[in-house]
Amino acid sequence: MKVLKFGGSSVASADVIRKVKEIVGQTEAKKMAVIVSAFGGVTDLLLNTAKMASEQDLAYKEGLKKIEARHLSVIKDLLPVAAQSRVLSKAKSELNVLETLLEGASYIGEITPRLSDKIVSFGELLSAYIISEFFCESGLEAVYKDSRDLLLTDDSHGKAAVNFPETNKRCKAYFNSEQSTVIVLPGFVASTVDGNVTTLGRGGSDYTASIIAAAVGAEELQIWTDVSGMYTANPKIVKQAKPIVHISYEEAMELSHFGAKVLYPPTVQPVLDKGLPMVIKNTMDSKAAGTVITKKSPEEGRTVRGISYIPNISLLSLEGPGMIGIPGISKRLFEVLSLANISVVLITQASSEHSICIGIDEVDAANAIQEIEKAFAYEMSLAKIKPVIHEKDLAIIALVGDQMKNHQGLSGKMFSTLGKNNVNIRAIAQGASERNISAVIRKEDVKKALNTLHEAFFEENIKQLNLFILGTGNVGSKLLGQLKQQKKYLKEHLRLNIRVIGISNSRKMVFEEQGISLEKWPELLDSGKKADSALFYDTIQKINARNSILVDNTASEKIAASYPKYLKQSISVVTCNKIACSSAYGQYLELKELAREFKAPFLFETNVGAGLPIIDTLKHLMASGDEVIAIKAVLSGSLNFVFDNFNEKTSFHEIVKKAQEQGYTEPDPKIDLSGIDVMRKILILSRESGYTLELTDIENRSFLPEEALRTKNNESFFKVLKKYEGDFQHLLKEASTKNCKLKFVASLDKGKASVGLEHIPEGHDFYSLSGSDNIVLFYTKRYPEQPLIIKGAGAGADVTASGIFADIIRIGNY
Ligand code: ADP
Ligand code: ASP
Ligand code: MG
Repeated sequence: MKVLKFGGSSVASADVIRKVKEIVGQTEAKKMAVIVSAFGGVTDLLLNTAKMASEQDLAYKEGLKKIEARHLSVIKDLLPVAAQSRVLSKAKSELNVLETLLEGASYIGEITPRLSDKIVSFGELLSAYIISEFFCESGLEAVYKDSRDLLLTDDSHGKAAVNFPETNKRCKAYFNSEQSTVIVLPGFVASTVDGNVTTLGRGGSDYTASIIAAAVGAEELQIWTDVSGMYTANPKIVKQAKPIVHISYEEAMELSHFGAKVLYPPTVQPVLDKGLPMVIKNTMDSKAAGTVITKKSPEEGRTVRGISYIPNISLLSLEGPGMIGIPGISKRLFEVLSLANISVVLITQASSEHSICIGIDEVDAANAIQEIEKAFAYEMSLAKIKPVIHEKDLAIIALVGDQMKNHQGLSGKMFSTLGKNNVNIRAIAQGASERNISAVIRKEDVKKALNTLHEAFFEENIKQLNLFILGTGNVGSKLLGQLKQQKKYLKEHLRLNIRVIGISNSRKMVFEEQGISLEKWPELLDSGKKADSALFYDTIQKINARNSILVDNTASEKIAASYPKYLKQSISVVTCNKIACSSAYGQYLELKELAREFKAPFLFETNVGAGLPIIDTLKHLMASGDEVIAIKAVLSGSLNFVFDNFNEKTSFHEIVKKAQEQGYTEPDPKIDLSGIDVMRKILILSRESGYTLELTDIENRSFLPEEALRTKNNESFFKVLKKYEGDFQHLLKEASTKNCKLKFVASLDKGKASVGLEHIPEGHDFYSLSGSDNIVLFYTKRYPEQPLIIKGAGAGADVTASGIFADIIRIGNY
């Protein structure tokens, strides 16, 4: 005999019930017990309706109508007209009984656990009856059997305990004598010796099936549900989760105890005792292999088999000086809880015995606190024990696997993975079986924690980076283009999955947790919400995605000022915006320290030389113990362009205009020509070289006349340039008579930084620099005479975007 159980979603509508019939029809077995749940959602509906009735809220009648409609419409859809009236009238008479019970509850304004069980049992009873009738009408040799005749329990209503000897006896006797091939039974329901209805706990139909399978020694127990087996994590929360092909009873039990709802926790025990094979299959995809559960999983080697979580946990701590060295406090604590029927999910005790911390279901918290404070009232009155500390809105997350005990370092990996993503761990416990490691975390971090742990333990090193992009001008849009182009490459070669979740420019912003289409982002952004930087931050925080990165492609001071709050949430920052790193030294230092403290990289490679790896190289030199003695550099693509094109036949202001028109300067060309931009860059390089410098410490030998520096707009700036053409020609002549070229050079020498025009003779490294190229010479302890040289295009949207891209990848490898 085989036992097949179909859960609520597998019998939620006439269409899926037809699938169930096909599966049953194709199953090869001489005899089959088919256990069904209530139609999906009906149990909740029954419980809510009963609650409303007991609160004398007449809306319960609406609930009842819905329950009626669900069942009657399935009957009409499934059964041929000829059979309908009989089944409809039976169902209606059952529903009338239900109505009477609800009326009773409403009349007396209360509901006892016994009445609640009676009411809720209608879900399974009706479902099994209707399905058995449909099976018969479809040609299966089927019969309906009421499980209440077979499963005997005590009278703990809501979650009754099974009397196994009697239940086993009844099951054996019945199934031995029953001649039909298919026996349809309601799950979840049972009865006391007095014939009162009991239920086995929410999700208990799985248990019904396993009790019957074990009682009759079935060949196999099949649990049919809405997912293709037991997954490495809840597939509704972790998209990358995969079905586990084969798992041991103990592992399955541990995963379900720690929240994997796909199996009701007590289900495994009866089949484990008998050693019966069990399989979890998907009704919606019956060909999928599913998960096999047996004594030993052949998939040895894998340490962590699954990750599960229990939401809604409260943490209660009992502490105080009076607890040290006094034996029996934990014993008393657990006795109190056990008497109050409160189960403890997790325990941690500090080795000093100064405190005991327990995790329990949050619905039990108020009751538990009351009971504990009553039991320890004497010690509390003497201040030997403090009042119970209650922490709410928590969850437990657990790694599960039989082989975990034989492997070092798993908990280290678990906690560092969580730490990197700013998931705060409130308590830790390692199960006595060493089959699980669990941590108590904030409820709002569950999704992030599950995904990041799944990535760390199951995804063969594919790491997901979640980007939030600010600025879609030249650089931003190039970056989005590069991300689109490289998406596949990054996945295949660097094992990085890059998802852009948020984009904002100064007008609009758009978010999509599953990733914004990199083809359609301009349209999506256009039809997005009005841009709002506070809301942008709040939304990122709410999405709370792992490996989040803020990418700043703007030159905005306001955005630069917001980096600390992102870093404090462990959101990394990648920026081409120079403001943050060239503002007061204290601010620069704060950002670096926040990045370290919150394990969120703060990268700004493009602040100097666009995509050239200047800062990264400098970092490596420093990290490997080298020391910077001097830096000589041409760091302004714009100034280089200007002086490269300026000659006796041209005029200075025309060349500046051309540079501006071709996008080589900032919109306000004075920022480049005054040398301010180069000052910022050499300041950043000096700071990265270990010098504490401010912008005001940098000497600027500006070649611009004072009058030009004082202008307020571009028009008057150009006017002044024109006026001083003679001076500029003079500068040029001075240089050319010496056979030199003019270059705007930034220097750092023994801790002193300066910028200014210099005469560069033929043969010098800077002499042949052309276009918008940059060059940096690093003179260090290891490169004292022949400097380390980095040279190449130092301006332009494409190379800047590629520099940002490189920073993003650096975070991917972090
Ligand atoms: P049924 O109605 O068939 O009894 P349940 O809703 O009780 O189905 O259980 C199936 C659900 O369990 C899945 O839809 C999934 O959301 C949830 N679930 C939680 N953890 C896991 C896991 N590790 N593997 C598979 N499903 C899981
Ligand atoms: N119908 C019950 C519930 O929803 C039992 C089950 O489906 O397993 O809890
Ligand atoms: Mg279930």
